[in-house]
Amino acid sequence: MTRARRGDCSPTLSRHFTRPIPRTLGLVIVLVLVLAAIITVGFAKRRTLAPRLAALVVERPAPVAPPPLDRGVEWSGEWYTVQHLDEVTIAIGEPRSEGRNVSYLLLGSSRAVLFDAGEGWADLSPVVHDLTDLPVIVIPSHLHYDHLGSIENFSAIALPDLPALRAQARGGVLVPTFDQFLGVVVNRQPPALHVAEWWKPGDPVDLGGREVVVRHTPGHTPESISLWDPARRWLFSGDYITPRPLFAFLPGSSIGEYRSTARTLMAVLPGDAVFWGAHDELDDTLAPQLTISDLHDLARVLEAIGRGEAEVSGFFPRVYPVNDQLEIWADIGDR
Ligand SMILES: [Zn+2]
Repeated sequence: MTRARRGDCSPTLSRHFTRPIPRTLGLVIVLVLVLAAIITVGFAKRRTLAPRLAALVVERPAPVAPPPLDRGVEWSGEWYTVQHLDEVTIAIGEPRSEGRNVSYLLLGSSRAVLFDAGEGWADLSPVVHDLTDLPVIVIPSHLHYDHLGSIENFSAIALPDLPALRAQARGGVLVPTFDQFLGVVVNRQPPALHVAEWWKPGDPVDLGGREVVVRHTPGHTPESISLWDPARRWLFSGDYITPRPLFAFLPGSSIGEYRSTARTLMAVLPGDAVFWGAHDELDDTLAPQLTISDLHDLARVLEAIGRGEAEVSGFFPRVYPVNDQLEIWADIGDR
């Protein structure tokens, strides 16, 4: 074995380090580093970047032609449809929009509550005032733009009495944040919500001969609520459970909260409870209806996601099939 002589390596090494890096190679290295930084930050901020990107690259879908309506569903103007679920409960649909939102009007004998305020393509207030002379208070299922469309056209607004929303309101006015509203998708600014009433989750609200109870159902967003009608065993469930992809990949969404809400609902709801969702199915114009067995299916998949055992496809969002009406769209690594 030949012993390396002192000084054999150092001149070679120092030549390597003192030789100037060629200009082109330098530019390539800088570009690669910048690109890597963009990818790293972009990946870390994917939830809030996704809506901004969608706003840039996805064209706002135009309204479709009025579809033929199912039995029991009627037009109210050119945009909204009306379906009586019973004499005092009315589903107001928007079958011409991509989101196919459904808001619900619940009548008591002294006042009415409107759950969600439409997607915002047309004013919802004349439709509601055609249906009732009662004073109407509107409470949104959550603060995404497509549930607050006409909210400023109603004189009374209620919000769920949640500590985070209370802290956010200034002088009784709450302006949803970018992440809460996501109006960037349709180039819309968040409204200023003048809160007339704060409804505490669990406390019954009297509409005159009819009670409703706010249930806090986070998962889709932290402030998401459902409205429980104990006499009918109906849960107006907003975006928490509705026959369409359940969006759990948005800013503020959480699979963990989705799962704990499912556990709570299974513990407190009767076996014959019915869910009325906030977005319609694609192949009919009836108000979207689900049952406890759909909640069981959802809970089963949410538990499997927690154990890392759920069937999944896609990269972002990750798509978890639930049953023929439901699938969960989740963030990467969110369990
Ligand atoms: Zn939503």
